[in-house]
Amino acid sequence: MGYLGNDGNTLTFEESLKYKDQIKKDGIIQFLNLYKKFRNITYKETIKSIVNEKYLPIHWGDEVEAHIVLLDKESKIPKIVPDTHYLFQRVQQDQQEDSEEVAFKLVPEYGGWMIETTPSNPYYSINNLCAVPSSLRERSLKINSYLNPGQKVLYTSTFPILGQIDQKYYYMPQAQTNEHVNEVTQSLFIDDRIISDHPRFPTLSRNIRTRRQEKVNIRVPIFKDKRTNVQVSQYNPDPNFIYMDAMAFGMGSTCIQTTFSAKNFSHARRLYDQLAIVSPLFLAMTASSPIFRGKLAAVDTRWDIIAASVDCRSREERDPQSSKYIPKSRYDSISYFISDEKRNLPQYNDLKFPLNEEIMNFARQKSKEMGLGLENDENYIRHLGFLYIRDPLVLFEKKINVDNEKETLHFENIQSTNWNSVRLKPPPSMDSNIGWRTEFRTMECQITNDENAAFMLLSHIFVRLFYQSDSLNFYIPITKVDINFQRAKQMDAITTQKFFFRTNIHDDGEPIIEELTLHEIFFGKSNVFDGLYKYASQIWESMLKEVFGQNYSIKDTEFEKVWNFIRERTSGEKVTVARWIRNFVNNHPEYQQDSEITNSIAFDLIEAITSISDGTLQDANFTTIF
Ligand code: ADP
Ligand code: MG
Ligand code: MG
Ligand code: MG
Ligand code: MG
Repeated sequence: MGYLGNDGNTLTFEESLKYKDQIKKDGIIQFLNLYKKFRNITYKETIKSIVNEKYLPIHWGDEVEAHIVLLDKESKIPKIVPDTHYLFQRVQQDQQEDSEEVAFKLVPEYGGWMIETTPSNPYYSINNLCAVPSSLRERSLKINSYLNPGQKVLYTSTFPILGQIDQKYYYMPQAQTNEHVNEVTQSLFIDDRIISDHPRFPTLSRNIRTRRQEKVNIRVPIFKDKRTNVQVSQYNPDPNFIYMDAMAFGMGSTCIQTTFSAKNFSHARRLYDQLAIVSPLFLAMTASSPIFRGKLAAVDTRWDIIAASVDCRSREERDPQSSKYIPKSRYDSISYFISDEKRNLPQYNDLKFPLNEEIMNFARQKSKEMGLGLENDENYIRHLGFLYIRDPLVLFEKKINVDNEKETLHFENIQSTNWNSVRLKPPPSMDSNIGWRTEFRTMECQITNDENAAFMLLSHIFVRLFYQSDSLNFYIPITKVDINFQRAKQMDAITTQKFFFRTNIHDDGEPIIEELTLHEIFFGKSNVFDGLYKYASQIWESMLKEVFGQNYSIKDTEFEKVWNFIRERTSGEKVTVARWIRNFVNNHPEYQQDSEITNSIAFDLIEAITSISDGTLQDANFTTIF
């Protein structure tokens, strides 16, 4: 989340151009000031209790995004609730009355109908995995209790009929209005009034469009069913693709994220690289987005849709023939590994990706002047060069000249609009007592709290695999990670795709790489790889024996429950949310095998999903995990 202060007007992209170079340099200076203060801070200094010197508890947290929807039984048309201010007011009121009562933070998201929650305090433990499902359940119950009649929380990644033409007029509470307001996005489908009203969000949308020199152009391959036959029109310019033209189609989808405190700067960088490598695997496992703008897609995830929805590259930057070519949107997988460890072999950074050399030189020179030594840290300087090929998108007129010794705003500006598969988070402010953190960003939202908790916990278990200095080594060339991303987005990737994976994970030399299914990566393939479950359970159990005594066993613990769930998902015994949605549509009496999701199919689908979420409907695919 970028800056959400209350500081008046934002600048148009043209207005921001005259400040852009200064803002970028100030951002680098602000980062270097942070680095100067926190470079030697270790996590140990910031934690309350040390149970065991070798295995410290980890502070970590999650973010859950969701849609607030209205199921209007009379019309049988599902609608987004475009204005969730009342929810924020109710939470605030409760918090003022009794702060114990509301153990989560509620923050706005891109869509006016969206919410994001985080635990009010980060989790803090070695093995207390129950804290996560119970925090999620508590948040759900609480939010449900605030909703108005007919309203529901929809957790799956997309609102399936967002942008349907006949939906346009239902967005606003005064549904009678026939006008379509689209000055910000120029979208054929999306009314500007559904965007959150904090100036950050409309300004992002507008300035992306201006920088790009045209509105965004999102094309998702359509799922070709027996009777699919899309008539070409301005709304469907290509019968093979679902066309969308606004940021809301991407940033209006939800995800779950986890953020972990690292032992120090170097450890945060190790986590960044290792988690980036597994991030496409988590995307495939959590796939929950098979429908866009009322049509079945031939992909299962939101990834490419968000990437295209915030693609601010100019025409030149999008042209592979141009010297200014940038191959990816600012929302996409990372393009460089950044660890300073020897095991990060130069050959793994085999993707040619443009860098801001000028900023890299500036950072080197300033670091030298400040006596920081970062100028010799090529992998990190390159990371700055990677982040800084992007321009600032949202500037607040009263926040141009800020004190670089005290503020981190201009660094955060670029950092928070590089929406990558993982993010290295420096301490959030100059006076913070939070250390270096790494964020894991690819997971899609699931239907139940238990599923969401299981994936969050799995990411936490992975973090433990990279805790000790002799930890596992997942490095493969980064171009192979990108191929894994391409595969992860495909329909049913969880059971049908193979992924590049390193099998000599205890070895820091040349990688041995195999192509394996997710089930094989996790549970092994004979004579090829023993599977991560085996290594993870050994590491986890031996850690807990050391901390809590030799009698400790992982049997019947939350750890095992997480892995049993992963076993069911990766074997196909339980299907992904995306597959479950496809099956639901296919079995719906109104579905004509034409890839079209009518309002009433969408209504029944959302009713089923939200009822499974709140426990009023049982479904064999989504049983209790914890
Ligand atoms: P952003 O949207 O930029 O990712 P948020 O403020 O929404 O940031 O989320 C911050 C995340 O960091 C939350 O999941 C929160 O629980 C977690 N968190 C907070 N404090 C710590 C900490 N000390 N160590 C690790 N994670 C933390
Ligand atoms: Mg957030
Ligand atoms: Mg965010
Ligand atoms: Mg968010
Ligand atoms: Mg986040």
